[in-house]
Amino acid sequence: MIREWPREETLQSCVFRTGWLGRQEVELFGRERSLDDFDEMSFGISKERLTGCIKQPIEGSAWTGVITAIAKRAFETGLVEAVATLHRGEKHHFEPKAVLARSVEEILAGSGNKPVVSPVLLSLHEAYKQGVKRLLVIGAACHVHALRDFKRRFPYLKEMDIYAVGIPCVSNVTLKTLQDVLGMFSASPETVRHYEFMQDYNIHLKHASGRIEKLPYFCIPQGFTGINLVVPACMCCFDYANSLADVTVGYMGAAFNMQKMHQWIVVRTDKGEELRNLIADELETVAETTSGNCRKAVIRAAQKIIDQTRPGAQSELKAGKPMPLWAGRIMAALIRRVGPSGLEYARYAVDMHMIRDYYYVKFYYPELMQALVPQHARHIVEHYGFEP
Ligand SMILES: Cc1cc2nc3c(=O)[nH]c(=O)nc-3n(C[C@H](O)[C@H](O)[C@H](O)COP(=O)(O)OP(=O)(O)OC[C@H]3O[C@@H](n4cnc5c(N)ncnc54)[C@H](O)[C@@H]3O)c2cc1C
Repeated sequence: MIREWPREETLQSCVFRTGWLGRQEVELFGRERSLDDFDEMSFGISKERLTGCIKQPIEGSAWTGVITAIAKRAFETGLVEAVATLHRGEKHHFEPKAVLARSVEEILAGSGNKPVVSPVLLSLHEAYKQGVKRLLVIGAACHVHALRDFKRRFPYLKEMDIYAVGIPCVSNVTLKTLQDVLGMFSASPETVRHYEFMQDYNIHLKHASGRIEKLPYFCIPQGFTGINLVVPACMCCFDYANSLADVTVGYMGAAFNMQKMHQWIVVRTDKGEELRNLIADELETVAETTSGNCRKAVIRAAQKIIDQTRPGAQSELKAGKPMPLWAGRIMAALIRRVGPSGLEYARYAVDMHMIRDYYYVKFYYPELMQALVPQHARHIVEHYGFEP
């Protein structure tokens, strides 16, 4: 039995030591993703992709609660004994607090987004101390990568059967920065309870009263460029789609539907299939759809961000006025009709950020290019005509 969690060994499993995907993908799937398959290059290896929603949405969940429903059923059926998740801290609605949930109430209390970098893996020590043998971990790609590597390389989790549910995640911030970001996006930042960059090209900010405030992407204040706000480690991320999870649950590959709030479910492994089957009765499923072509939108957005990210560019950025709200609304409505949607929207989001992060690493940490950047990222960069 260990008293102190082995911090040094845990840190050795950080993606900055192991690199993104590559060998870890081979460990999990027996192969790396195909460089001939654009779906795999962007979204990772999967057995099945579908969209759908929980028929009776779980109150307090980010969308309809697919993840919470999976965790609850996994616990109730005895598939796992505990769930490593996040509760809300006392200081702030979005403060994440790592929790090893061991009751249905504690699992339900973990629902909902805490859109900041979070300490999910702290609960591994608790699980180890409590002798948990079957554990479900819910986390972003950086958590799941460290978890997979740590389990493989160090003896602490050898006896534990682990299931991993992943959220897609990009451009994360600290709690302090989040408050500044919400101040830029909303007229009432302190009452925001959920916010998301949605497939209708608006940021939706849901307030405590239930009111939804919308800010078209095109009206985002010019001071918001990403590089000045996003945690630097998140600018070096090459796994938006959380490809080492057993199942990834997001929204971006689902067609926009405000009534049903369809989510995007990417089943990757046998364990992921087992988890998805647990909620078969609760889930209304819809086949994936796709329309439009994201190529031009990716090139335009990536080029703009590369220009903003370039060393020295920050001081040159003009604090010009963003597009007026009325014009932004027209633009968002137009692009929603003719622009990429469904799977093609997800491709737009993933590929554009992959190119951004490729250039960020190239500009600021060129010595990490070889070890950190997976090979498919170079192919994506080239595919859109950028220079790798
Ligand atoms: C920072 C962030 C960025 C995201 N970006 C995208 C995106 O660009 N595209 C997309 O499709 N989806 C994204 N998501 C995922 C999406 O917002 C929903 O979390 C997902 O669709 C699951 O919805 P749900 O209703 O099933 O979640 P719920 O049933 O409410 O469960 C959500 C689970 O996620 C956990 N969680 C919340 N915050 C974090 C965090 N910071 N780190 C680790 N775990 C957390 C919760 O504790 C809970 O267990 C993002 C989520 C976060 C937190």
